[in-house]
Amino acid sequence: MAKKDPVVRMVFADSKGNIYDHPDLLMLTRRGQEWMTPRFSDLMELPPESELMLLPKRQAVGLNPTTGDVETESGQTAVAAFIAPGNTVWAHPAYKTEEGAPLLPFFAYAALGFANDHFYVAAKTVDTDCRQQFAHIAKASIAREANALRRTYANNRLLMHIMNNCVARYDCPAARNFALGRFEAPLPTSTTCNARCLGCISQQDKDSPFPITPQCRLTFIPRVDEIVQVMEIHSKRAHNPIYSFGQGCEGDPLTNWELITDSIAHFRAKKGPGTININTNGSISKAIVPLATAGLTSIRVSINSAQPALYTTYYRPKGYRFDDVVETIRLARANNLFVSLNLLFFPGITDTEEELEALATLVGCGVSMIQWRNLNIDPEWYNTTMRQSHSFQTFGMGLMLFMKRLLDRCPWLRYGYFNPYLGEKTIPQAPMPRL
Ligand code: SF4
Repeated sequence: MAKKDPVVRMVFADSKGNIYDHPDLLMLTRRGQEWMTPRFSDLMELPPESELMLLPKRQAVGLNPTTGDVETESGQTAVAAFIAPGNTVWAHPAYKTEEGAPLLPFFAYAALGFANDHFYVAAKTVDTDCRQQFAHIAKASIAREANALRRTYANNRLLMHIMNNCVARYDCPAARNFALGRFEAPLPTSTTCNARCLGCISQQDKDSPFPITPQCRLTFIPRVDEIVQVMEIHSKRAHNPIYSFGQGCEGDPLTNWELITDSIAHFRAKKGPGTININTNGSISKAIVPLATAGLTSIRVSINSAQPALYTTYYRPKGYRFDDVVETIRLARANNLFVSLNLLFFPGITDTEEELEALATLVGCGVSMIQWRNLNIDPEWYNTTMRQSHSFQTFGMGLMLFMKRLLDRCPWLRYGYFNPYLGEKTIPQAPMPRL
């Protein structure tokens, strides 16, 4: 006899913040405009190092299995999960928003349920790399390593920024890894940006509805010698080192591409080993040939959508267009850079037929990997904002089907969440684009 799936219950919090599973109501999820009960096989157990979040002035809703009605009870606050890196959210929680509810801060909100004495989330593991798992590392040992670097390199402003702000204030995983001498080191260099993303985590306009950003924009531009010194420190301590320009605490690194080109050239001239990567909005295509010539290995281009209208609504570019991003990708592949897309996935908006078509076309311009990242933003606000500026022809098909169909169209694609180690140079899997 076929085994029956367990019943997944709605989760809610009382006025004191205690979290319960509901005795009767079932878990409901939200994908764009649609509310649905999830299939148990699509859920995953809440991964370690995830956090539960109460959603203020939002009432939990669940499905009454007897009547088929969607129900809510006052005093039952909605709860979501902020899941550990390496996992992608495929549905948001369903809730009823009360009058005067504040906007939610910049996190990704995964739908949460409870079954068999465990929490379950609407998410999928897309990368098993352990680089952002810290539960087994004592905070004291990170602080000890950070202090030792501070004492030795007190005159390096970039290193001091990484230790004093990124490690101590923002708990940035890349910065903590640099302190520990492992994986990917961050190299923030840029104080400015030529975009105004709705969900930028380092700077918002004065009239933005999101008054608080989790990080502050870098306030100085490091010199070449400071950048190279940080790279050299990492190269001597880390096994298979990765160095990444373009971090959460800065603007876009391509606005400083000459400085970065010089830094890479100096580092490589002294036989600096490892993968040099740049995380960017991909707006300045003329930077690509000099960067590749200097010794850049890979580029990760962030997009919320491969459809120009949706991209422009979110990025609000100043002085460039989506076509420039496409040109950057083409040139990067033509110059043998490994190109990843940092796809800021949002259930119900990213997983439509129209997006699949546009994304497959963009991937054909030279993309070797998709990093399935979560768009960290208030789900209801983003969903409304995108639908005000764009008419959607189809509903979301769901992350798993979307991933499968994209791979059918572009079989060379690699999927993951983190920038891969590629040595100094690699042969990209993506076919050469037509220039
Ligand atoms: S491209 Fe990056 S730095 Fe620039 S506005 Fe967008 S998120 Fe912020």
